[in-house]
Amino acid sequence: MPPPARYPLTQPATLQAASRMPPESSARQEVMVQGIPASQGIAYGQVFVYIQSDVEVPSYVVDPGKRSDEIARFEQALLLTRQQITKIKHEVERNIGPEEALIFDAHLMVLEDQALIGETLREFEDTGRNLETCFNKISLRYIQAFSEIDDEYLRERAGDIRDVAQRVLQNLLGQTERSFNRLADQRVVVANDFSPSDFAGLDRSAALAIVTDRGSKTSHAVIVARSMKVPAVVGLRDFTRRAQPGDWVLVDGYEGLVILHPSENTLFRYGKIREQREGIEARLLAANRLPAVTLDGAAITLMANIEKVDEVQLVKHYNAEGVGLFRTEYLYLNSARIPSEAEQVEAYRTVAAGLAPHPVIIRTLDLGGDKPMPGNPGLFPKESNPFMGFRAIRFCLEHTDIFKDQLRAILRASAHGKVRLMYPMISGAEELARANAVLEECRTELRAQGVAFDEALEVGTMIEIPSAAATADLLAQQCDFFSIGTNDLIQYLLAIDRVNDRIAHLYEPTHPAVLRTLKSVVDEAHRHDISVSVCGEMAGDPVLVPLLLGLGVDALSMTPPLIPAVRYLVRAMKLADAKKLAETALGLAAPKEIHALCLAFHNERVKLE
Ligand code: PEP
Ligand code: MG
Repeated sequence: MPPPARYPLTQPATLQAASRMPPESSARQEVMVQGIPASQGIAYGQVFVYIQSDVEVPSYVVDPGKRSDEIARFEQALLLTRQQITKIKHEVERNIGPEEALIFDAHLMVLEDQALIGETLREFEDTGRNLETCFNKISLRYIQAFSEIDDEYLRERAGDIRDVAQRVLQNLLGQTERSFNRLADQRVVVANDFSPSDFAGLDRSAALAIVTDRGSKTSHAVIVARSMKVPAVVGLRDFTRRAQPGDWVLVDGYEGLVILHPSENTLFRYGKIREQREGIEARLLAANRLPAVTLDGAAITLMANIEKVDEVQLVKHYNAEGVGLFRTEYLYLNSARIPSEAEQVEAYRTVAAGLAPHPVIIRTLDLGGDKPMPGNPGLFPKESNPFMGFRAIRFCLEHTDIFKDQLRAILRASAHGKVRLMYPMISGAEELARANAVLEECRTELRAQGVAFDEALEVGTMIEIPSAAATADLLAQQCDFFSIGTNDLIQYLLAIDRVNDRIAHLYEPTHPAVLRTLKSVVDEAHRHDISVSVCGEMAGDPVLVPLLLGLGVDALSMTPPLIPAVRYLVRAMKLADAKKLAETALGLAAPKEIHALCLAFHNERVKLE
């Protein structure tokens, strides 16, 4: 039943998809689930379950003489899958009840589905490719077809096929891998987890919203969603089990709510909320060409964080004064191989020239953590603590060939605009000296080749590891600026894994330890006459910005769509008041109390509702 025309909550995809809405769905019980608000916006659409496992399906041609062995291998995997499912069915029958075990009968029926198995074997005959490839292709086609059917019962079978197909593939491969099916239409993407490299395969215009079981506000996939203005709610624990492909779902990225089978009343209410939010955004955008100057005359530098070259347009659209953080690892994540020096020069030059005379701070590779290079498991072996592992500058100092290619590319691009260079994850003065020594080698090489670069190129250090913060005085003697990466600094200071939803509530930017650390880094920077900015997500939160400015931070760099709200706040406050706020906050013990103080400061000055 299409939603009545009076719903203000409409969008082309919604209307188009709504015409296929089954009659039963309006009768289904509305279910509201609270998660973590990760990227603002409201979306309404049908669920697309993004299938993830840890497996990758290799594709190869089977030797014609070994075709019967291949079929036997497939039969063996089907048999093993049958045994596994039967075992689970009996356990569930015994421990939970016969009704709950019925689902596994449906799974067993999938295994006996002659169409699915028969078509797989026909595909094998036609292509000669390994049976994982054939089975994966046919089962994905079935999943897609079932998820589009208007009958609720049949649509739910898509989930059964998906589960069984995963199991068969895993048994065929004897390992786990990640398989990915594409969005055919605009959908709300529901996934167990989402990584930055998953965005590479996703048609962005087709993702109405992203909803995940895991993740937190500073996971990198969420940061990307925010810059793409795709609403996102994360940390929903078991949403992938609650939602079926094709279910209707409403996503509220402001409050972190996901509503399955929303009622007419809910849709109507959200239609109004969306109108109101869009009105506020339009007002903020209208004021965004004005200078970021406080009421008492302090000019605040607002810069942009970018991941890709084509975001130059976004930087201009949101009136940022250059780029405070170019996360160059995305050039590597979006490609199957390491980009050459020439390809990198082209990318950095395009950004620098496109934004001149504004500065562009190019951060050297920060691969690892939640950003391993998907096509290169050899370079990034699995680690049990990837955020504390082989990441960023540690990787670069071991792979100096890759590092030098990038440093030379940045130097060469510096001839075409105002480029600055910055190292991530520096832990101390010795490491910074090693990185600077490699940079010096590159300078010498380029000079010898007569290649032009900016001899006065400024070099900065990210402060995102507690040991760097504690030795800020030593680091300041070896670089031209600091940029504080609060996303990592907070996770390491508080021992809170930044992508773990179970402890996300303990990730508190207003913890006194964070405030004291920020203050001491800012003071050391200024004592050594260098500038200090913040480029973590804290810099884009208008509630926390007065605190950062009050502590003495010189510039803020954030996801471009967040700039208008921060600019609005800056123009509504006095720096002198922010300094008093920071002073008071430094005297408090409870993170929640400090947050409440910041919220009151913000709400007294910004009244847009
Ligand atoms: C940070 O850690 O705050 C930061 C800006 O770097 P990233 O989010 O890329 O780790
Ligand atoms: Mg970081």
